Amino acid sequence: MSVRQIYLDNNSTTPVDPRVVDTMVPYFHEIPGNAASRTHPFGWKAEEAVDYGREQIANLIGVDSKEIIFTSGATESDNLALKGAFEMYSRKGDHIITLQTEHKAVLDSCKKIEKLGGKVTYLEVERNGIVDLNKLREAITDKTILISIMWANNETGVIQPMKEIGEICAEKGILFMSDATQAVGKIPVNPKEVGIHLMAFTSHKMYGPKGVGALFVNRKNPRVKVTSQMDGGGHERGMRSGTLNVPGIVGFGKAAELCGQDMVKDTQRLSALRDKLENNLMTNLEEVYINGSVDHRMPHVTNLSFKHVEGEGLMMTFNNIAVSSGSACTSASLEPSYVLMALGLGDDLAHSSIRFSLGRFNTEEDIDLAADSLLKGVNHMRDLSPIWEMYKEGIDLESVVWSEH
Ligand SMILES: *Cc1c(COP(=O)(O)O)cnc(C)c1O
Repeated sequence: MSVRQIYLDNNSTTPVDPRVVDTMVPYFHEIPGNAASRTHPFGWKAEEAVDYGREQIANLIGVDSKEIIFTSGATESDNLALKGAFEMYSRKGDHIITLQTEHKAVLDSCKKIEKLGGKVTYLEVERNGIVDLNKLREAITDKTILISIMWANNETGVIQPMKEIGEICAEKGILFMSDATQAVGKIPVNPKEVGIHLMAFTSHKMYGPKGVGALFVNRKNPRVKVTSQMDGGGHERGMRSGTLNVPGIVGFGKAAELCGQDMVKDTQRLSALRDKLENNLMTNLEEVYINGSVDHRMPHVTNLSFKHVEGEGLMMTFNNIAVSSGSACTSASLEPSYVLMALGLGDDLAHSSIRFSLGRFNTEEDIDLAADSLLKGVNHMRDLSPIWEMYKEGIDLESVVWSEH
């Protein structure tokens, strides 16, 4: 019999809610229309479905449905927002400010912008993962057109002070862009309340299907526009061409509606389970550290470092839990996570981190089984580790001269 697999990697993608699947099915075959075909009922039905999905999504984040631009996911939304604003507002300036802990979709878009002649400041964060607002102010120049700061971090769950950042942007007349992929659908997110002008998010992190995402683009006070990064039929108010993914948008819409309905219940349940897991590990093991702010973080995420236990090795001690480790999460490299390094973690703690991200379909039993496997795994690794033994004997590992070959 195969081992029951426990999925605790919901920050990388969530299972699609079966209620979402049900709403999508008719739009693959029975209702095949292209939402841009205005000459027959097939097209009208598809357009109606897209309009409805757009409203469900707009309702979740408290904006007008005209302010939602559909894309293929948050990567595309980040690219469109950053490159599109850089192009659109080039006469105003050429400087963008972002954080070192942003998702690669933001960081790599910024690198491309630098290649195109733009200037980008990659701000460091504090030890708790949060931006220092004074440093943010100091980084602003008269050429700054946009500040891009994520709502919640994908690796640590740390939540940034969105309202305060929005106030700084408003005061200085700078566009505020946010990658809110990890926050939308999980905690209350309303871009207008905090002064965000551009906001990226994606369906597959909130129990919807993969391959569909959105960019919120503020339409009034100020009226924001981004230059399209793909040319074609001028769909989505000219900002993103291409035939819309009708079943995907229907599912995304339903997922948004369900997140709105279930948010309070899900959040309470998942934060209790997260705390249970964390408490269990921290009381039964020595030298376990929480990475990132404990007070300002997502309710379903914990990123823990188990000192002197290599994360990838630890994962190999169990075969029933899907989590992600601080190393090897980007490409095939064994580099420690740049996000954890930006928090100032040493190599040892960055290499020994595991991210647990819970989701709607996790049960208490999942959490108890995961904790058991983790306790066994960490103890096993430490029993075998000469470093741990030296550490326990009180040897100052910093002072040890390791021989090099
Ligand atoms: C997952 C994720 C993305 C990428 O989203 P896709 O829809 O997979 O392209 C971007 N930003 C953050 C913060 C993410 O967690």
